[in-house]
Amino acid sequence: MKTEIYLNYIGGKWKRCSSHKVFQSLNPADLTEAVGEVQASGKEDVRNAISAAETAFKTWRKTTVYQRADFLKKVLAGLTVKRQQIAELVTLENGKVLPESLGEVDSAIWEMEFQINEGLRAYGETIPSARSGIFAYTRREPLGVAAIITPWNFPVNVAFRKLTPALMAGNTVIFKPASFTPVVGAKIAELFAEAGMPEGVFNFVTGAGGEIGETITGEPTIKTISFTGSTEVGLEIERNAAKNHCRVQLEMGGKNPVVVLADADVEAAAEAAVKAAFACAGQWCTSTSRAIVEKKIAKTFTDKVLEKTAMIKVGPGMEKSSTMGPVAGQSQMKRILDYIEKGKNEGAKLLTGGRQIKKGNFEKGCFIEPTIFGDVKEDMVIAKEEIFGPVLSIICVENFEQAMEAANNIQFGLSSSIFTKDFSKAMRFVEETEAGLTHVNMFTAYKEPSLPFGGVKNSGSMIPEAGKTGIEFFSNHKTVYMNYGGR
Ligand code: NDP
Repeated sequence: MKTEIYLNYIGGKWKRCSSHKVFQSLNPADLTEAVGEVQASGKEDVRNAISAAETAFKTWRKTTVYQRADFLKKVLAGLTVKRQQIAELVTLENGKVLPESLGEVDSAIWEMEFQINEGLRAYGETIPSARSGIFAYTRREPLGVAAIITPWNFPVNVAFRKLTPALMAGNTVIFKPASFTPVVGAKIAELFAEAGMPEGVFNFVTGAGGEIGETITGEPTIKTISFTGSTEVGLEIERNAAKNHCRVQLEMGGKNPVVVLADADVEAAAEAAVKAAFACAGQWCTSTSRAIVEKKIAKTFTDKVLEKTAMIKVGPGMEKSSTMGPVAGQSQMKRILDYIEKGKNEGAKLLTGGRQIKKGNFEKGCFIEPTIFGDVKEDMVIAKEEIFGPVLSIICVENFEQAMEAANNIQFGLSSSIFTKDFSKAMRFVEETEAGLTHVNMFTAYKEPSLPFGGVKNSGSMIPEAGKTGIEFFSNHKTVYMNYGGR
């Protein structure tokens, strides 16, 4: 069957890449099925996109926030109309079950609405001057061309969370989606094209990060980069961009713990752990990957978690009966299965799952059983490295102090959670947890668009996305003093 070929969008025109090479995006539920073909762009295409964005910046920066909002509201309207179609495509290309994809698109709509309105409110300040006859104030200004580099796990939501504030702040953009989900990226580009954005304001280029990433992030014309992806690539981008004094926002990996104390509502804690460990096949950056449990309730907690995990129905994301889809691709599946082997070899106890599912048609896809390890020790690889798949490690501790130490004994700091009825311990956890977002009696993935979203340690860098910091990152403050004549 011939698949559709999607083009780059540069300077307001749909274009083939200069080499005319394409690559296929595959359906992780059935790798024999291509979702589409996209441009295997090279450095020249990236430079053309950057140049178009640089030219467009000269006029886009002068538009008012209301003019920018008018364009973005058209994009938002398109996203809303195509909600179902885009969600189905997310399921086909990423694998997550359809209700999860619909949830992602709804979340993108919500985030976009919030960031458009934040852009309208990107106020400066008037500040009383120390001297008479001086009017002092600040105004916000755009930075220039912004590079938006996104991952495959939330191909719609993360893209809009970055693109909306970047454009509302008056920057022009070059958007590069992940190579597991480039067709979703192309559909996003179509929304911008259909909204009639002035040419060059929004540019879209597909291609392998390893091939074109360095050209995007090392180009002096790029004034800011917002990246979501792995810690390894994020830190490489940071080093590359530093040469040009380029502002970088990094949202990277996580190894998020849920701490369950002996006084907790164990039922609620188990429910939260299972939901955040296996939703989107464990490929949320805020997924729970470590349950750190006080010994006294460890057995009850583990039994409940196993019981709930047994209810998960793995299958293709488009099938109504499926509650967990495949992982995003073959390399991703191999990586997860390797970690599971490591866990077994280092002595963790495999309580359930651990295998690729190969029955019937499943063999063509990337299906992995929801997997739980018990008897996990803090220093094991599976307790320290990000697996980014449906694998939960249960670590037993004697008390709150040990739990706190285990929770923080990690290079990552994205999200965390504690389940307890003890107000004092909950507050201590909030104060001491080394994470950009934290929760009490809630699952590790809970978030809202009006609050900042980002990690600390090797999970994040610079101010977070979303909330008020969304626009803040993409703009400069200019301080103005005006002498209007002293009295
Ligand atoms: P990667 O870091 O591999 O890729 C992320 C993006 O960067 C992709 O578009 C990729 O392109 C691109 N890229 C790859 N190499 C380079 C390079 N040298 N220079 C510039 N760009 C490059 O991560 P994944 O896509 O595999 O995403 C999974 C990771 O993302 C997980 O670690 C997860 O924790 C993290 N994540 C973090 C979130 C957060 O908010 N903190 C949210 C979601 C995910 P290509 O696909 O072509 O290689």
